[in-house]
Amino acid sequence: MKQKVLGLVGIGLGVLLVTISGCAANRVSLADEGIVSVETVPGKKVKILWTDVYEDDNDVVVYGVLRRIGYSSGSFSIHVDVTVFSPDEEVLYENRTSVIGVPRRVVGKGVDWKRFEVRFPGQIPEGSSIRAVCHAGRHNDEKSS
Ligand SMILES: [Zn+2]
Repeated sequence: MKQKVLGLVGIGLGVLLVTISGCAANRVSLADEGIVSVETVPGKKVKILWTDVYEDDNDVVVYGVLRRIGYSSGSFSIHVDVTVFSPDEEVLYENRTSVIGVPRRVVGKGVDWKRFEVRFPGQIPEGSSIRAVCHAGRHNDEKSS
């Protein structure tokens, strides 16, 4: 029984490492290159642990990892609003993730984070900035955008 639990923890860690290194290894990060900057805004219950930006064919992909703040129980869902600003601080793109359930944090038990990802068509100019906001509310324009 004990071994089974340890095995699950091991799988969780393995997935985490593969996910992180897999993303970093074969893509050029626009954030690491200093081409864009990323600002993250935490919500009340969830924060963004880290983010990255890369180009994928003709898309720009902003992705990152969400984690709960503290060890609260109960389930809740949020989404991430992502806005891309040009160097002149005009809004180039806006998009949001679908609703994401962020898992509870239980000490010593597997994965306690959730990945999010937003795509934008086209490219973003050097010097752009990106803001990713954890948002638990709803949007009035859910369909019209
Ligand atoms: Zn929102």
